[in-house]
Amino acid sequence: MALLDGEVYEAYRTELLNRYRQLLRTLGNRITKEKTAKIREAFDFAARAHEGTFRKSGEPYIFHPLAVAQIAVGELGLGSTSVISALLHDVVEDTDVTLDEIERRFGPKVADIINGLTKISVVFEAVDNSSIQAENFKKMLLTLGEDLRVILIKLCDRLHNMRTLGSVSENTKLKIASETMYIYAPLAHRLGLNAIKTEMEDLALKFTDPSVYREISSKIAESKLSRQRYIREFIEPIKETLNASGLNIHEIKGRPKSIYSIHKKMLKQGIPFEEVYDAFAIRIIVDSPINQEKTDCWRVYSIISDSYQTHESRLRDWLSRPKNNGYSALHTTVLGPKGRWVEVQIRSKRMDEIAERGLAAHWRYKAIHNEDVPPTPQDQAFDHWLDAVKETLDNNDLSALDLVNEFKNTLLGEDIYVFTPKGAVKSFPMGSIALDFGFSIHTEVGLKTLGAKVNNKLVPISHELKNGDIVEILTTTKYRATQHWLGIVKTGRSKSKIREFLRDEKTKQSGRGRQIMERMFQKHAINFTDKNIKLLNKHYGYTHSSEFFHAVADGQIRMNKELLLEILQKDKNKDSVVPTTKDGVNKSPENIRKKAAQIVFGEDYDLPYSLARCCNPLPGEPIFGFITVGEGVKIHRTTCPNASKLMSQYGYRIIPATWRSVYETAFDAHISVRGIDDVGIVSKIADIISKDMEVNMKSINIKAHDDGTFGGQIEVLVRNSEDLQLLCDRIKSTHKHIEVSRIEGK
Ligand code: MN
Repeated sequence: MALLDGEVYEAYRTELLNRYRQLLRTLGNRITKEKTAKIREAFDFAARAHEGTFRKSGEPYIFHPLAVAQIAVGELGLGSTSVISALLHDVVEDTDVTLDEIERRFGPKVADIINGLTKISVVFEAVDNSSIQAENFKKMLLTLGEDLRVILIKLCDRLHNMRTLGSVSENTKLKIASETMYIYAPLAHRLGLNAIKTEMEDLALKFTDPSVYREISSKIAESKLSRQRYIREFIEPIKETLNASGLNIHEIKGRPKSIYSIHKKMLKQGIPFEEVYDAFAIRIIVDSPINQEKTDCWRVYSIISDSYQTHESRLRDWLSRPKNNGYSALHTTVLGPKGRWVEVQIRSKRMDEIAERGLAAHWRYKAIHNEDVPPTPQDQAFDHWLDAVKETLDNNDLSALDLVNEFKNTLLGEDIYVFTPKGAVKSFPMGSIALDFGFSIHTEVGLKTLGAKVNNKLVPISHELKNGDIVEILTTTKYRATQHWLGIVKTGRSKSKIREFLRDEKTKQSGRGRQIMERMFQKHAINFTDKNIKLLNKHYGYTHSSEFFHAVADGQIRMNKELLLEILQKDKNKDSVVPTTKDGVNKSPENIRKKAAQIVFGEDYDLPYSLARCCNPLPGEPIFGFITVGEGVKIHRTTCPNASKLMSQYGYRIIPATWRSVYETAFDAHISVRGIDDVGIVSKIADIISKDMEVNMKSINIKAHDDGTFGGQIEVLVRNSEDLQLLCDRIKSTHKHIEVSRIEGK
C-alpha cells in the first residue's frame, strides 16, 4: 500500500482494520486465543505478500482474501483453519511465497488446502480452449475427494469475484458469469449451499442480462409491502391455534423467489412477472429439539390444513427422506387468502440453517451433538453422494471433458429413490432408466439386461424410473450391450461399464476379422504382411488396421479373391481392372459412416454439419447445432462445456438439432410400388432410399412382369410418418408412370 498517497492510504488502512475486526466478531467466541493469534498472523502475512498490488476495482488486493474469509465464516459458518486458508488463498499463486513457507508457518493442513486451491486457481484470462477449461474443472472436482474445505473456499472466492465483477471487461464478465452458471452454482446447490447458489445465479443474470435483472429486482422490491400484508392476512386465522399449541414458532416470513428463478419461470411459461403465482413462499420455522422436529413440522401442517384447503398433489415430504443435498423440510401448497395458491414451507430452525448454509452448518450440528446422535438422513445422503463422486473421479478412462460432463449430468442434479423387490432403497440421478438399475446391481446383470418389471409391469430397458418405483431386472444368458446403450443410460457407472465392454468386444471382433483375412490370404497364397494390410486400410479409408479388421468381422466389408487381388495390385499397377463388388452395393467406408451420423435440424433438412470435437456427440444424446463461420453447422452436446458459453454469447447462432436415429425410434413401414417398366428402376429406388434419404432399407422386392409393368414391395425403417411421406414423394418423382403408396397395417 506504500504506493498510495498518505490520505488514501490512511482511509484504506482504517477500512481494512474495520473489516478485519468484523471478521473476528463474526467468528465470535468460537475460537481460542491461540487461534486468534494465528489468524492475525495469516492476515498480516497475506497483507505483506500482496502489498503494492491492486484489484481491477482499484482497492488494495488484500481486501479480496479478507472478504473471502468473511464469506467463509459469515455465510458458511466455517472455522479458523478455513479462515486462515481463505486469507492466504492467493499468496502462492500470485506472490513469491512458497507452499513450504506456508507449511512451516501455518502447518500441513493449511498448506494442503492452499495447495488444492492453487491447483484449481482457474483462469481470469480468457481461456477459449474448451479442453483446458475442462482440465481446470476436472482439477477442481478431484479436490472433492480430498478436503472439502478446498471446494468450499473456492466457492467463497468465486462468489466474491462475482460480487465485484463490475470492474472487469465485458468479455471477461460474460465468461466468468457463464462458467459460474455452468459449474459453480450447480456445485453450490449440490453441496446444499442454497444462499450461495441463489446469489451466484442472480449475479450471473445481472451480468448476462442486466435489463431483465433490473426489471425483476425492482418489481420484487415494489411488491414487498403487498407481500407482507398478504402474510399477515394468511397468519390471522391460524395465529391463535399456533399460540395455543405450545409449539415454539421461531419465525414466519415470506420468501420471494430468487430473481433468476422468477426469470426462468417467466421464460418457461411465457408469462409476465405478475403471473408468476408462486413468486414467494411463506416459511414457518419452528424451534424444536432435534428429536421432535419432524413431529412439530407435521403439527404445524395439520394446523394450517385445518384452516386452508391443501393442494394434495403438491405435498412434499423431505423430512423423512431429505433431498440428496441434505435439504429437509415439509412443503405444501394451500389455497390462501384472495383465492391464491401459496406455497408453505415448514421446517425446524436447524433445517433452515442447513438449507441456507448447506453441509458446513450441518457439520457444525454434527460436531455439537456428536456421539449421542445417530447419523441423520442428511449424513447418509451426503456420504452416498460423495461415494458416487469418488467412483466417477476414479474412472480413469474418461477424458477431462467427459468427466466434467458426467459430473454435471449425473452428480449435480436431483436424485430419485427406487426400491428393489425386497424393499432396499437405491438412489439414482433423475432421468435414470431401468438399464441403469441393472448396472447398479452388478456389471454382469447390466450387460445382460433384457427388460425390467417396474411396479410389476413389463417395461423396456429404456423405461425412465420414477421416485418410489419398485424395480426388478430381467436378464438373459447373453450379453446384450451395444453402442446404442451408451446414448440412453444416465449414470456414469453404466456408461463406463458399457464402454469397457464395447472396447473389449471391439478388440475381440478385430481379432476375428484378422483371422478371417489371414485365412483368406493363406488360401490365395498371398503374404499376410503389414504392407499389404496397409494397402487395404488405405483403400477403405481406415487409419488403424484394427478398425479395418473390425469392419471385416462386422460384415461391413465383404472381401473376395478378385477384390483382394485387385486392391493389392492397384498400387503396383494403376491400369488394372475396374473393381466390382459381388453384390453391386457400394460398401465404401464413406457411405457407411455417413449413415452412422444423421441429424435433423428443426424444419430444415439439408444443412451441412460436422460433429464438434470438444464433446463428440453420440447418437441419442441431446444435441444442438451451432452455426459457424465457413464450417457449416457444428453439432454439440447440450451438456458440452462450451454450450453455456455459446448459448449465452451467440444465442442467435444456435439451432435446434436432433438425431435421426434409426435405432431409437425407427419403425417398419411397407411401401408398395407399381408402374410401367423402366430399366434400372430398382437401383434408382435403392439409391434414393440409401443415399438421398439415408433411410435404412430392410428389403426390396420388385418384379418386372411380362405385360411390361412392374410391381413390388419395399420394407424400410423410418423415423416418422413425415419421413415416410417424403420418401414416397421422392420415389414418385423418379418416374412418370409410377404409383407409390404405403401399405397400411403392416
Ligand atoms: Mn481469489
